[in-house]
Amino acid sequence: MANFYCEYCGQKFSSVSILTASSCSRHPLGSNKGKHKLYEGGEKAKYTCKYCGQSFSSLSIMTASGCSRHPNGSNKGKHSPAL
Ligand SMILES: [Zn+2]
Ligand SMILES: [Zn+2]
Repeated sequence: MANFYCEYCGQKFSSVSILTASSCSRHPLGSNKGKHKLYEGGEKAKYTCKYCGQSFSSLSIMTASGCSRHPNGSNKGKHSPAL
């Protein structure tokens, strides 16, 4: 069965409808200010940040730390996965 991941927090879900129904603790507008967003890149061995190019072994590790090349300013936002 396929797994679905949130682009903001890396949480794993068994269905997209459950993913989009619940609030995300790492939503860019603030903790639980919006729903999880489906990461459309699928399951990968490693994920690359689209802003800085750093590689991470999981989305949850990636989205936990600030990105030095975030468009809002250095460390003003989290790393974000490229598709
Ligand atoms: Zn999330
Ligand atoms: Zn980054």
